[in-house]
Amino acid sequence: MTEPSIFTRILDGEIPAEILAETDRLFALRDIAPQAPVHLLVIPKTAEYRTVAELAAGDPALLAEMIAFAAELAAAHTDDGDFRLVFNSGPNAGQTVFHVHAHVLAGGLTEKSVG
Ligand code: ADP
Repeated sequence: MTEPSIFTRILDGEIPAEILAETDRLFALRDIAPQAPVHLLVIPKTAEYRTVAELAAGDPALLAEMIAFAAELAAAHTDDGDFRLVFNSGPNAGQTVFHVHAHVLAGGLTEKSVG
């Protein structure tokens, strides 16, 4: 059995973190190491999917829910509602937590990419 991911441990209350918002299948956190003025994470409560491609194949409706939830969060946390959605997929793309999650980056971004 694999270890629970850091996000599962937060959801289970083992690691303290403020859950900003949640739905029946998703929750949102503020990223602990922000890369933009607003940097939130949208995370499925299930740890079943490691990457966005696995999620798209296994539960496309949940992927659509993540996008809609990201838009709601951006509307609540910015003046303009604009946002960038990033999925790092695989270690060579910078993924470190293999419990699929979307980075919601917002708040006056003008550059083309966030490293
Ligand atoms: P990367 O670490 O390269 O961004 P991921 O795409 O897997 O890789 O993202 C994991 C994200 O989880 C990171 O942005 C990291 O800052 C964030 N993170 C790790 N631990 C916590 C925590 N306890 N609370 C909030 N965010 C966290």
